[in-house]
Amino acid sequence: SKSSMIAEMIPTGEATAILPTGKTSPITVIGTESIRGTFDDLCLQQALNSRLAPGVTELVLNPDAHCGYGAPVGCVMVSPTHIYPGPVGVDIKCSMSLLQLDLPSDAVDDRRTRRALIDAICERTPTGAGKGQRNVSKARKVEVDLGERVVTEGASERVCQELGIPPHWASRCEDAFHGGYRESSDGLRDRLGRLRGQRQLRQFENKISQLGSYGGGNHFGECEVVEIGDDDRARSVAETFGLIDGQVAFLSHCGSRGLGHQLASGQFSSLQAKFHQWGIPLPGGDRQLVYAPLGSPEANAYLDDMALAANFATVNHLLINALVLEAFQEVIPGTQGQLVYFISHNIARQEVVGNVKSWVHRKGATRAMPGGHHALQGTPFEQTGHPILLPGNPRDGSAVMVADAGAEKSCFSVNHGAGRVLGRKRAQRELDQTAIDREFDEHDILSNCRRYPRDEAPAAYKDFDEVLKSVKQAGLASEVARLKARFVIKD
Ligand code: 5GP
Ligand code: MN
Ligand code: MN
Repeated sequence: SKSSMIAEMIPTGEATAILPTGKTSPITVIGTESIRGTFDDLCLQQALNSRLAPGVTELVLNPDAHCGYGAPVGCVMVSPTHIYPGPVGVDIKCSMSLLQLDLPSDAVDDRRTRRALIDAICERTPTGAGKGQRNVSKARKVEVDLGERVVTEGASERVCQELGIPPHWASRCEDAFHGGYRESSDGLRDRLGRLRGQRQLRQFENKISQLGSYGGGNHFGECEVVEIGDDDRARSVAETFGLIDGQVAFLSHCGSRGLGHQLASGQFSSLQAKFHQWGIPLPGGDRQLVYAPLGSPEANAYLDDMALAANFATVNHLLINALVLEAFQEVIPGTQGQLVYFISHNIARQEVVGNVKSWVHRKGATRAMPGGHHALQGTPFEQTGHPILLPGNPRDGSAVMVADAGAEKSCFSVNHGAGRVLGRKRAQRELDQTAIDREFDEHDILSNCRRYPRDEAPAAYKDFDEVLKSVKQAGLASEVARLKARFVIKD
């Protein structure tokens, strides 16, 4: 039962615990006691299954953890020998990005200005499942050959130039090129050709037309006012990040849209068919935890598909940021903007964990590499650590953080948000629409939705203060700035 599983956790610090697994070493748990109380049975069972799955050497459960696909959303899974598509998920390289604008906060005080901004943004970057760009003349129409380059090259200079994305924004991206895994686009071009030839990638034109769009559900765009912390470290790190106190910024959350979904689903079914054919036991009996041993043709095919989708997600975010900037410039002429960072939370990446080269699967988890971490060499964040974009909810705000040395215990990862505390159906059933809309009104937060979706209401997510407290007390990261929402764009 729920209480017995949570009771098995052994506190090891103010906001850390371990969950014994029986055989192998335990699961590392990040979260204060009250956060640990939010983990339900299925979430913990998924964590156990994932930890005990073949080739897995470490599993971290973050404060935002909740039930996911095979593995919990909000976990880090490490393997030097196997790749697991489930703990990457269907929205490959779902990510957050932040655009800093040079506008003082009072530029968005006027509700009519904000309404005009919402309209100008929605016109360019539509929301909604299956939606592509509505207005191709105002936005950018992507032809098939450019689409092919997008998914094989990622944010290369010529891809950026052709889409009207400032090419230097690529330096503000985690893994901007070749899916972050290959040295060149050649292998990915072969894979793409094969996928299309064998009709495993259907309606490519349609998938490509979704570049520059948010998609539905949990994805969002949010206009923010930046409030930098008032300690010296926060101020100096904020300067390196390019954050400006009291000015407007824009936070975006989306992933690889239909393309990532199709590639991930294709991989799940082909691996599940192979497990069935070969009679291999499923980890924890869960078909969502199928895997492929590294070096096998199955693993290579998966990694290539993950890379194709990752490139799409990277360029999708950069294009959205370019279109959002264009929308601001239409409403408030002369506005300038710089990308602060683009950071993903549904991806596997090759990293060295305790001297062993491994695939680190971050499912609803984000990298947290402090200053001096070797992976940051040659980036603008070598000294400080990279920006961590950590959304909470529109009412309580979001945070920009920077990793501390303690992040080593979570395999250099933190949670990617507050995490769900109410499932969608339960939120629909239990939350009161009038109260939600009144709350947005009281906080003077506008939205493109006439009625804010109940399953996306702030109360559907965990207590953001408690989540942040967990991250800080566990020694994973420190706060650099808070973001206060002024309007939200959701499906
Ligand atoms: P995901 O959907 O990728 O699992 O999680 C995204 C995270 O973003 C959630 O855990 C939640 O804390 C946060 N979030 C969801 N919707 C919004 C929103 O409209 N605004 C902000 N600031 N955060 C949100
Ligand atoms: Mn997503
Ligand atoms: Mn996401």
